[in-house]
Amino acid sequence: MRIKIKLKYFTGFIIFFIFTLQFLGCKSYYVRKTFDYPVPNDTSDKSIEIQEKKIFSIDGIHVDNRFEGARMNGFRQIDDTTFQIDIKPERVPVNDSPWYAFKIWSDTPRTVDLILQYYDGHHRYIPKISRDRRNWSAIENIEINDDTMQARFRLNLDTAPLWVSAQELITTKDIYDWVNNLRTRPYVQEINVAGRSALGKDLPFVRIGKGEPDKKKVIVVFGRMHPPEITGFMALQSFTENLLIKDTLSELFFDRFDIWLFPVLNPDGVDLGHWRYNANGVDLNRDWAYFRQPEVNQISRFILDRAKKHRNKIILGLDFHSMDRDTYYVFDDSFRTDLKDFKRLYTAAIDRCVYPFRTDYEPTPLSEPYAKTWFYIQFKAESIIYEVGDNTPRDIIRNKAKAAAVELMGLLPQFIK
Ligand SMILES: [Zn+2]
Repeated sequence: MRIKIKLKYFTGFIIFFIFTLQFLGCKSYYVRKTFDYPVPNDTSDKSIEIQEKKIFSIDGIHVDNRFEGARMNGFRQIDDTTFQIDIKPERVPVNDSPWYAFKIWSDTPRTVDLILQYYDGHHRYIPKISRDRRNWSAIENIEINDDTMQARFRLNLDTAPLWVSAQELITTKDIYDWVNNLRTRPYVQEINVAGRSALGKDLPFVRIGKGEPDKKKVIVVFGRMHPPEITGFMALQSFTENLLIKDTLSELFFDRFDIWLFPVLNPDGVDLGHWRYNANGVDLNRDWAYFRQPEVNQISRFILDRAKKHRNKIILGLDFHSMDRDTYYVFDDSFRTDLKDFKRLYTAAIDRCVYPFRTDYEPTPLSEPYAKTWFYIQFKAESIIYEVGDNTPRDIIRNKAKAAAVELMGLLPQFIK
C-alpha cells in the first residue's frame, strides 16, 4: 500500500515535471521579453492625410501624382515661367525626410522654374529626373532656401511626361517583381508571405539557404521600414544578389546558415509616398516592444514561429536604412552575444573593400524599440543597422553591399562553432 502511494506521488511528480518543462520550453520562445526603454513610444494608430490624386493643370503645364509612390499635394503658378509644387507629409510631427514624386509635362516645349515648397520639413533629397522611370539623373543646379523651406530648379518640358522624384522610384510592385525574379536563383529555397500590411499588401519573405531549414543559424534581413530610404534598399538588393552566387564560399556558408529576407516591411508607406510612417501613421521602427502595428506584429510572430518549428537560432539582424551619411549602428561592447568582436571585424572588412570611402561606426545603448533592439532582447542576437547615405554614389552602394555579403560568408562561420 505504502509503495503504491509512493509510486502514485512519484508518477504525479514526473508528469508535473514534464509538463513544466514543456510549458517553459514554449514560453521561452513566445514571451517577447520586455525592457523598460528610456524613451517610450506611442505606436497606437494615428490618422494620416491622404493626398488628392489627379492631374493638376495650369497654363498648359500638367502635373500628375496618380501612381504608386507619388507625392505632391498642390500646384500653383507664381509668374509666367515659375510654378510651385507643394509637398506635405502624411502627418505631423514627422522627421525631416520630405519625399516627393510626380510626372510633369507641357503642351508646348517650354523652360520653367519649379519651386518645391515643403511643409513641415526642409529640402533633403536632390531631385532625380527620368524619361522612362528606370534611368535617373540628378539635377545639378538647385537653389535651396531653408528659411522658406523651398528648393528651386529649372526644367525643360515638352509633351512627353518627365518623372521627377526625390530618389530613384522603387515601389512595392518593383520589390515584388524583384523577389519573384529571385525564384530561379541558387539558394532561394522559399518565397512566401509573412503577413499583410494594414492595407492588405503582402509582406514578402524569402528563405535563402541550402536543403532543409532545420537547426540552421539564421541571419534576418529587413528592408524599407521607412519609405523614402531608397539607398538602403539598393544596398539590400546588392547584398542579396551577391549571396546568390554559387561558389565554394557560399556552398560552405549555406551548409550551416540561413538568410531570412523581409525586403519590404512598409509596403503601404512606400506606395502612398510617405515620408516616414505606415498607413496607420506609425513609425514601424519604434514598435518592436509593443507590436501594435500589423506589419511588426506579424513579421515578429512569423520569425518566432518559424524559429521554433525548425529549431533555428537567430544570431544576427541586419536592418537596411538611409540617412545623411553611411553609418553602422551597432551595440556597444557591454552587450554580450555569441558573436563577440564580430561587428568590429565585419564592418572593418567591408570598409577595406571600398577604401578610402568611409562609413561611421556608432555603438549605441538600448534606447528605443528599434528592430535592432528586438533582435537582442528577444534572441540575444547581434544586430546592425546598415545606414546608407542619401547621396552615396550608387556604384559605391553596390560595391559596399557586395563586400557586406562576401565578408559575412567568410567571417561568420569562424564565430559560430
Ligand atoms: Zn530609417
